[in-house]
Amino acid sequence: PFNFSAGPAMLPAEVMQQAQEEFRSWRNSGISVMEVSHRDPAFMQMAAQAEQDLRELMAIPANYQVLFMHGGGRGQFSAVPQNIAGPDDTVDYLNSGIWSDFAIREAGKYVGRVNVVGGTEQTSRGKAIQSPVSWKLSEKPAYFHYCPNETVDGIALHDIPEGISAPLVADLSSTILSEPLDVSRFGIIYAGAQKNIGPSGFAIAIIRDDLLGRAQGNTSTIMDYSVQARERSMYNTPNTFAWYLSGLVFTWLKGKGGVHTMGAINREKAALLYDYIDASDYYSNPVHPDFRSRMNVPFLLADDRQDGAFLQQAEKRGLVGLKGHRFVGGMRASIYNAMPLEGVKVLLDFMKDFEKTHA
Ligand code: PLP
Repeated sequence: PFNFSAGPAMLPAEVMQQAQEEFRSWRNSGISVMEVSHRDPAFMQMAAQAEQDLRELMAIPANYQVLFMHGGGRGQFSAVPQNIAGPDDTVDYLNSGIWSDFAIREAGKYVGRVNVVGGTEQTSRGKAIQSPVSWKLSEKPAYFHYCPNETVDGIALHDIPEGISAPLVADLSSTILSEPLDVSRFGIIYAGAQKNIGPSGFAIAIIRDDLLGRAQGNTSTIMDYSVQARERSMYNTPNTFAWYLSGLVFTWLKGKGGVHTMGAINREKAALLYDYIDASDYYSNPVHPDFRSRMNVPFLLADDRQDGAFLQQAEKRGLVGLKGHRFVGGMRASIYNAMPLEGVKVLLDFMKDFEKTHA
């Protein structure tokens, strides 16, 4: 089946096959990678290679640490304020959707004040992120946080905000590695792994060196970026299987031509879907065209009483995971790197057939 789930999401078929083949015996060891010590030289070599591959794929400058962390995306919602803000500091957050909102609430536990600089607005062409001109930045925030791709709302800020002097922090959970990105513009980038990288519960955090060593005293040690940087993400036992699988995904991605190639394919996949939805009277997408996500495409049927039939018939055609998030309803096609163009074309054919019989 083609799996359009938002996360945990479809992984590349070739990667899953390789993992299956290596499951019983990794590198001719006779045991699974899950049974190998993280201090074993073969594991350490694999782990270092995975980091190196990620650095290459994202062109991560040398003055950034790459950490393989626990606790998924939400773990980072608390790690960020604990690591680079004090209990009396103000921090700036853009609230562009559901995940920004969760991040804001979490940050409030650790800092003096969370200043929400702005958010989304309803325009005549759909839901849009407010213009940066109207953002109410605070004077000296410890950092500025935003979520470039809101997975649930299907709303994205494609341009990195300009003119912000505080370190930029971005939640890239649902867009990391989907297109080229200038890492040097950021203080911290983080991402839960379960969309474009690997298994859930795992997270990548990329931190500029000058932001290390600032953690609040009561930060839990496994979430302390400085400790994890010093220990090469092995302060405690890392999620070895997730690290291994992520490494396979990085190798796969390099073989596909990296983020430039992926970016072009992802644009094509998204354009196919949005163009069809916009031309149809039966399907609709509520987001302003400039702010549409290229990873998560939410859409509504003209009559939501037909949602159940849509999902059932889609599944019969091998199209799974299309149900929208429980907070917003409707449908959502998540089209991360592992979703081939072919999968989107099959979905489009199905949507056209369904429209013909149900409009
Ligand atoms: N941030 C974004 C943008 C997400 O899409 C998600 C989850 O889907 C999260 C954070 C939370 O990630 P996790 O469930 O790994 O904590």
